[in-house]
Amino acid sequence: MCPTDYENDELIFMDEEDQEQEQNEAASGTWNVLVVDDDEEIHSVTRLALSDLVLNGKSLTFHHAYSGAEALEFLTERGHEIAVLLLDVVMESDDAGLQVAKKMRDELHLEEPRIILRTGQPGYAPEESVIKEYDINDYKTKTELTRSKLVTTIIASLRSYQQILTINQSRKGLEKIIGSAANLLEEHSVKGFCEGVVEQISSLIGLDAGGVLCARAGSVLDKEEDGVYVLGAAGDFASYINERLESIHNDKIVMQVTQCLQKKEHIFGDDYSVLYMDSSGYEAAVFIQAGNDISEVDRQLLEVFLSSVSVGYENVNLFHQLRNAAFRDWLTKLPNRNEFINMLDDLNRTDNDFDADIIALIDINHFSDINDGLGQEAGNKLLIAVSERLQNQFDERVMMARIGADVFGLIGADADIAPDKIDAIFNVPFKAGDHTLPVNITIGLTRLLESASGINVLKQTNIALNRAKKSLTCNYEYYAPEMEEKTTWRLGMIRQLRSDFADRRLEVWFQPQIDLMTEEVVGMEALLRWPNREGGYISPAVFVPLAEYSGLIIDIGEWVLEESCLKLKQLQDLGHDKLRVAVNISMPQFRDPLFVANVKNTVKDTGIPAANLELEITESLVMDEPQIVVEALKDLKSSGIQIAIDDFGTGFSSMSYLQQLPLDRLKVDRAFVNEIEPGKQAFIAETIVTLGQKLGLKTIAEGVEKKEQAAYMLKLGCDEAQGYMYAKPMPFDELITFLSEYKP
Ligand code: C2E
Ligand code: MG
Ligand code: MG
Repeated sequence: MCPTDYENDELIFMDEEDQEQEQNEAASGTWNVLVVDDDEEIHSVTRLALSDLVLNGKSLTFHHAYSGAEALEFLTERGHEIAVLLLDVVMESDDAGLQVAKKMRDELHLEEPRIILRTGQPGYAPEESVIKEYDINDYKTKTELTRSKLVTTIIASLRSYQQILTINQSRKGLEKIIGSAANLLEEHSVKGFCEGVVEQISSLIGLDAGGVLCARAGSVLDKEEDGVYVLGAAGDFASYINERLESIHNDKIVMQVTQCLQKKEHIFGDDYSVLYMDSSGYEAAVFIQAGNDISEVDRQLLEVFLSSVSVGYENVNLFHQLRNAAFRDWLTKLPNRNEFINMLDDLNRTDNDFDADIIALIDINHFSDINDGLGQEAGNKLLIAVSERLQNQFDERVMMARIGADVFGLIGADADIAPDKIDAIFNVPFKAGDHTLPVNITIGLTRLLESASGINVLKQTNIALNRAKKSLTCNYEYYAPEMEEKTTWRLGMIRQLRSDFADRRLEVWFQPQIDLMTEEVVGMEALLRWPNREGGYISPAVFVPLAEYSGLIIDIGEWVLEESCLKLKQLQDLGHDKLRVAVNISMPQFRDPLFVANVKNTVKDTGIPAANLELEITESLVMDEPQIVVEALKDLKSSGIQIAIDDFGTGFSSMSYLQQLPLDRLKVDRAFVNEIEPGKQAFIAETIVTLGQKLGLKTIAEGVEKKEQAAYMLKLGCDEAQGYMYAKPMPFDELITFLSEYKP
């Protein structure tokens, strides 16, 4: 048989892949054979016999050694290149060949080259154990080795060498996969994971990472809309991470990745490959800028790699979703409060180059009215519209979050985040479903100083925001440390007030109200008093706002009302049956859904005529939330209770509301009464009285301290007065005495 016959034989057993591989390897083509023999003739005979042999496209290259020592010397240098050793057993010593085999396996750790032992005499055949131990492929006596037998033996050995080589390569590859997959499993971010995949693939197939790109269908994570996004990449593609695939402007890649995701299978082209990855619906495609030149072994490795990391890919996606739940707002998909705090904390990291001078909290005024009035759905749509508007108006230099139900947070540079800029964004009404809603906002801002913790900055901005909400002139406020001192003080006061109220230390005093014409006492205003530890009193002007702020006013107000009605009842029982009592009411009380019913019940339970109870509300309160107040007042009024507007003239009343309200009395604010001086005209007081008369309302002058003020108000046509000139507020006992001694 000639060598070509052998080749044909081989071809019969080769499948197509082998053929491909054969062609691939043709270029790198030679099998290195080391002939070790002390007989020069054997060398030339061997060369001659095998010179025409070509296996898998590769011919043989011969290397020669004439002793065991020489062979070892060669092997030490170039052993890893050798495919087959034709090794004589007896050379400088009886077992020189065996020594070479032993040393080469044990000491030089050359495991892959195949060994064919040859010996002159059958008597020198090695033990079977030696053949096993040194991994010797074949043992032949020299006479046995005819040319054709030599060819057969060599081919068998070369094939076995090739297999061992492949297996070892795969093993190394698998070791790498196991290592890299383990690395990747520790990665918790999708981006980090996918970049890891790109890197590992490059190292597995020895490719420049710049040619690898990992993309996935968009519906899975942050991005709601469908589309394919770049998840991981290196080199030129790196800048496209998190961008849509189309943005890389490479039609070929876009098409092939899309196709791979559609067909859900790997695609191998001439100069590219796209590998498909899927675990429980978490899909991704890995584009590799290398095609048929990726060897079969590498291809198989890639597939093993991808199937082993796709579980990791699923995990990292699930993890991401969990994280989303914890750090994303479900409605707007913006970061939530937790994440906002993290973002603020991250600003302190030295490697952060985000330009941030300022943070802002934007609160939507009266959002609860929209929710209550138009329904939650409309409320949600409005919030989404606001979040979209904010994202459109600010670029990536501004970070944003939804901090609370109707509060959005911004972090950015001075140039971007200024109250007038934010106001301008909210100037145009928002579309929420079928509604077009104008939105008013309040803004709290804090300048960022180094090393303030996120939670603290947020707290400070909240303080500024609350400040801004209280301001009548301005819808924004910058945080200042004094505010915080005040806050600490306020919190202390609120705590004290709560416990003193619980301990029944609060008192209700009464200030008489006089008919200007007859000078008879017609009623009294109930005024809260909070005794301090020094025997004095904390002014209601100070603590009532705190009680309002903390919501305590609801309970306190209820108690004042009850107390006032009870005391009025006592006075009636004493014969003062014409008197009325005026009770001040705050906004939070109106917001309490039980308020109207409570007032009516108190009137009923205490047994006073409803007409003898008057509720005082301030103008600004009406202006604040007109819908709520107007409804409640109409209800109360219909049960006979009287309504007065307190501090009239200070709250920028709108005439249209004034006409809608079911009023009985206007209280001219003390400031305007105070303006009254002999010989001068008090314009505002006059206007208010005239207005009251036009609207058919009674008027009462507050804070009358001097006779001329009373006389002037009487001349204007004002009906009643209240002030130090007649009596200061006093405890109930003193009021009884006052009433019994009072003479007009
Ligand atoms: P207001 O309702 O306008 O009460 C009238 C205030 O003017 C009272 O101050 C009264 O003591 C004071 N005043 C009366 N006559 C004169 C006068 O001739 N000269 C001067 N300089 N002041 C006079 P007060 O008692 O300190 O109450 C302050 C504010 O606290 C009240 O203003 C009212 O807005 C609020 N307030 C008092 N009690 C309650 C309450 O039970 N509930 C609520 N929500 N607010 C209350
Ligand atoms: Mg009042
Ligand atoms: Mg008043």
